[in-house]
Amino acid sequence: MNPVTPLQPLREVIARHGLSASKSLGQNFLFDGQLLARIAAIPGDLTDQQVLEIGPGPGGLTRALLMAGARVTAIERDRRCIPALAELSEAFPDRLTVIEGDALRVNAASLFEEPPHIVSNLPYNVGTPLLVGWLSGTWLPWWKSCTLMFQKEVAERIVAAPDNSAYGRLAVLTQWRSDARIAMPVHRSAFTPPPKVMSAVVHITPNDAPDGVTFRTLERLTATAFGQRRKMLRQSLKPVPNAVEALESIGIDPARRAETLSVAEFVALARALG
Ligand code: SAM
Repeated sequence: MNPVTPLQPLREVIARHGLSASKSLGQNFLFDGQLLARIAAIPGDLTDQQVLEIGPGPGGLTRALLMAGARVTAIERDRRCIPALAELSEAFPDRLTVIEGDALRVNAASLFEEPPHIVSNLPYNVGTPLLVGWLSGTWLPWWKSCTLMFQKEVAERIVAAPDNSAYGRLAVLTQWRSDARIAMPVHRSAFTPPPKVMSAVVHITPNDAPDGVTFRTLERLTATAFGQRRKMLRQSLKPVPNAVEALESIGIDPARRAETLSVAEFVALARALG
């Protein structure tokens, strides 16, 4: 979809609105239109699809999403960005709604009548709590897919498989009822200013939830099991009543360590613990 008025280059928008990057707001901007279009293509055809974007900043990714045909609702905490986003809203009439606020406090689910795709170059300091919040609600969730930029190390923890040092609570809480993959590595030099570490875009799509297990049970279980990840389960799960009996009832050797259990084994254990 083309804008009704020509868009100025992003660097000019930033200069005109005085949007110097704020470290405390996790501001690392993307300017490369081709890269942004590739990120916006990850969820699939966005024509007339609802999209939630967290942290649009000066609107680089927002533009790419609008040009891909999406209807975007964007939540931005930095008041300085709002006038630049208002210009974008004028260029794409009735396609962009901007909410000034803290994404950790806004009830995003209530903003949509149909499930949106979530697409965001997330502020690093709030990325993991936002994701865990989106993974914890009723299932199937209120969103269709998540396409999210993370620090590469966090992206690897989200998609990790057992027997890998990146495998832990975040992998299990993501993968027990979703598919998660790294869709694209992104070099630090793509950002202005460049962060210290590399990044990667993760794509997550929800599946049916296994029966008889709640997010909360699994969250507590994985926190305890991975809290002492080098210890045998019989030791690390001592605070969990009946843990050894539950492990034995589903054929898991209590001498194993948490990081050797598959996601399905964690689900079975959570179910056995009731
Ligand atoms: N989307 C832009 C891009 O790709 O160039 C900016 C991404 S920048 C990594 C993160 C953005 O999130 C910034 O604009 C920042 O102001 C915003 N932000 C930080 N914390 C936020 C919060 N709690 N809620 C909403 N937005 C936030």
